[in-house]
Amino acid sequence: MPAETARHPQIPGARIIDGRAVAAGLRARLAEAIAAAPFAPRLDVILVGADPASAVYVKAKEKAAREAGMVSQIHRLPAETGQAELLALIARLNADATVDGILVQLPLPAQIDQVAVIEAIDPAKDVDGFTLTNVGRLAAGLPGLVPCTPRGCMVLLRETLGDLRGKRAVVVGRSAIVGRPMAQLLVQADCTVAIAHSRSADPAGECRTADIVVAAAGRAGLVTADWIGPGAAVIDVGINRLADGRLVGDVAFEKVAAIAGAITPVPGGVGPMTIACLLENTLEAARRRRGLPLAAAAE
Ligand code: NAD
Repeated sequence: MPAETARHPQIPGARIIDGRAVAAGLRARLAEAIAAAPFAPRLDVILVGADPASAVYVKAKEKAAREAGMVSQIHRLPAETGQAELLALIARLNADATVDGILVQLPLPAQIDQVAVIEAIDPAKDVDGFTLTNVGRLAAGLPGLVPCTPRGCMVLLRETLGDLRGKRAVVVGRSAIVGRPMAQLLVQADCTVAIAHSRSADPAGECRTADIVVAAAGRAGLVTADWIGPGAAVIDVGINRLADGRLVGDVAFEKVAAIAGAITPVPGGVGPMTIACLLENTLEAARRRRGLPLAAAAE
């Protein structure tokens, strides 16, 4: 057998990880847990301005929350809203005992200090997991509210690979909302983790020896087949709109699917998991606030 073939055995094609199906299963389990609970968790979402993509996301979150049996309230504020007004609303929701989860849809208009606004959210209600308290708790390996997208990626990886212990994982991207928390969660799952980013000398080389590659760079087609080792699990977080209107991930799907062991499509992979995990975070926040065990709402 030629050396080349030995190193790259023919793999019939990757298992396509169906994020829609996994998310639907999680949402159904959450809905059951909520139906059986003596309270309905409440999620409040704040939308400032009229960014069309943000409006779509917020509507989808409200719909999903209601379908799961939660109470959901959207607070729509005009684009010219001042910081003081936004902080006053957050203070009101923090103090309102009926509110379990508070989410401020990002990005915020330029006149508003995003960090100050996120920091104003009570960490116990911070269902996006963006407050420094929750960021710190994740970094320290303590329980807290974890950002929804990385949490969803972990669910998909566990569904696909089972035990992640000892796996070598590379995360492409180091943003505060995806790349960094993703790497922390993989470390917590006992993976050996590297983060590749825009200043890495050889991101492709880092990825090639990995059992797990999570692509979160926001660059269409960045991860090509030569980045991926045979049989690796590839999670594509990227959402990129091409000039022709098509939505694609960061991974060159067809070429990579021919060598990977498993791969998420875009759309239909990580995206649906993000909202499902937002609902899971909201139920967790509601339970914790009432002193109830988290009991595997979703297990
Ligand atoms: P970001 O722009 O904040 O961060 C991108 C990261 O990628 C940076 O850390 C950068 O260093 C790295 N990067 C850029 N070019 C690179 C290259 N050539 N090689 C290696 N690394 C490179 O983006 P983000 O907010 O983390 O989002 C990443 C992608 O995930 C975007 O496409 C975004 O739309 C998508 N996203 C999807 C979901 C979802 O629910 N599916 C949620 C959040 C973000």
